[in-house]
Amino acid sequence: MAEKLHPVIDKGLPKESASFEGGTLTCNCTSDPVKVKIKGQIAHNHACGCTKCWKPKGAIFSVVAVVPHENVSVLENGKKLKVVDESALIRRHACTKCGTHMFGTVERDHPFKGLDFIHPELFDKPGWSPPGFAAFVSSIIEAGVAPERMDGIRKQLKSVGLEPYDCLSPGLMDYIATWSAKKSGALAA
Ligand SMILES: [Zn+2]
Ligand SMILES: [Zn+2]
Repeated sequence: MAEKLHPVIDKGLPKESASFEGGTLTCNCTSDPVKVKIKGQIAHNHACGCTKCWKPKGAIFSVVAVVPHENVSVLENGKKLKVVDESALIRRHACTKCGTHMFGTVERDHPFKGLDFIHPELFDKPGWSPPGFAAFVSSIIEAGVAPERMDGIRKQLKSVGLEPYDCLSPGLMDYIATWSAKKSGALAA
């Protein structure tokens, strides 16, 4: 039986549109929802198995992407937002009423500084770039998925074109390591 990975993945990956210019993310509140405007296309969209990313009810993975912080602006009901965990690298701004994470900022000295993490399924229109890989797959066990299910879940991810990794993708891991090497002086800046 197929596992419920995430609605965006389970119903077939969405199609990217070259004319997508951004849109509005809306939280799940039925009244006075938080609305956040995103300018431009998203990048590095992926499925994430970590226990910190927000996911819809019943989903094993989250779907999360990044945009430059300057492309993010709160349109409505920003008063409802609160940072979930101030000690985390990603300051996830969640709706205090429905729990949806609207955007997560990276403000510390880190290769991801200046990027905001968002959940594109909250967009009001299609055309955003679909997930391209699955990150932190082994971490779903920490959320209660039995290890016996992992083979099947990894196969299912591969079958829809999402290569499963137990950290980030090689490209992003190289990017982070390069940033660290330049900071330490191991590589010329
Ligand atoms: Zn809400
Ligand atoms: Zn995550």
